[in-house]
Amino acid sequence: MLDEYGREIDYLRISITDRCNLRCRYCMPHDIETVAMEEILTYEEIASVAEAAAALNISKLRITGGEPLVRRGVCRLIEMLKGIKGIDTVSITTNGILLGDMLDELIASGLDGINLSLDTPDPERYRMITGFDRLNDVLKGMDKALEKGVPLKINAVSLDFDRFLGIKEGENTAGSGIEAGSGEDGDIPSDVEALIALAEDKKVDVRFIELMPIGNGKGFPGIAHKKLIPLIKKHYGSLERDDSGRGNGPAVYYRSEGLSGRVGFISAIHEKFCDSCNRIRLTSTGMLKSCLCYDTGVDVKKILREEGASDDREKAVIKAVQDCILMKPVSHSFTEGEKITERHGMSAIGG
Ligand code: SAM
Ligand code: SF4
Repeated sequence: MLDEYGREIDYLRISITDRCNLRCRYCMPHDIETVAMEEILTYEEIASVAEAAAALNISKLRITGGEPLVRRGVCRLIEMLKGIKGIDTVSITTNGILLGDMLDELIASGLDGINLSLDTPDPERYRMITGFDRLNDVLKGMDKALEKGVPLKINAVSLDFDRFLGIKEGENTAGSGIEAGSGEDGDIPSDVEALIALAEDKKVDVRFIELMPIGNGKGFPGIAHKKLIPLIKKHYGSLERDDSGRGNGPAVYYRSEGLSGRVGFISAIHEKFCDSCNRIRLTSTGMLKSCLCYDTGVDVKKILREEGASDDREKAVIKAVQDCILMKPVSHSFTEGEKITERHGMSAIGG
């Protein structure tokens, strides 16, 4: 379906839990409160929203969270979503801790692809960011998925690591770090280099995502891509733009001679790609959200749980998805702090 600005909305991101087995510092504080299970949509309720979305020509779904693999029965949900007429792909975004253990079941459920979140392949820095010493599990899960031929991309938040890791636990830094950078004259940050090295012999795309001023992300320093991309280009020398198979996603890709995979950039803050935005979101507590930046949306859980005939409910859920699409703003305002009305963290919204 087209939104008010003529954008084709064909993608729904579904958060199925606000819980997680990691505590990435820019995402979830250690003492975060989770919502009661009865506030979280059941799989049947999620499937009803997905059916309504499919009726409006949404064909791509992504399951996220929190950590989606910690919710029991996630493979049953994938099977349910794959069975909906009009749904072409169901993918997942995961931190990969449980990926190795669950991979066979995920493949059997029909999963189409995995976005694996990994901000550094350095074990000590991984522990300092996530709070847990689980890097090996992630790398094992990744290798197993690649061996089995599951399409997999690595997503890393572009953090200014040295400044980031200097911030003490619980310390609240002033303001957003989105303007921060390590300087155009510097060298490529070592974590960025080590992440790109994963694409040397593995056919995997490594994508960098600008840190957004959402929830805990507000207090941490990220590297702006307008600074990072020149550093990477200088380091690799031969980066060639390659957007083959990009679809209408927000990533811009480059290829280099020495790399089997590509390097991608999702420059959420500095290269506003809002004019090609193709998505809406469903939070785990049943809010349909039109944009990450604002708290506008539709409470579809209320509709799903209202008494009444199921035909009427079906129509009302389709209308809720339609209303959410029509509420989509022309663009985000991440660089104008006072205009950001979203107060929930990324783990609650579904990143
Ligand atoms: N737990 C899963 C994972 O980590 O992949 C799925 C949920 S997590 C919220 C999804 C993605 O959002 C992760 O790649 C994470 O790094 C990213 N993320 C979290 N907070 C962010 C922020 N403030 N800005 C940009 N990305 C963020
Ligand atoms: Fe958990 Fe993902 Fe947030 Fe990290 S980014 S705390 S893995 S939800």
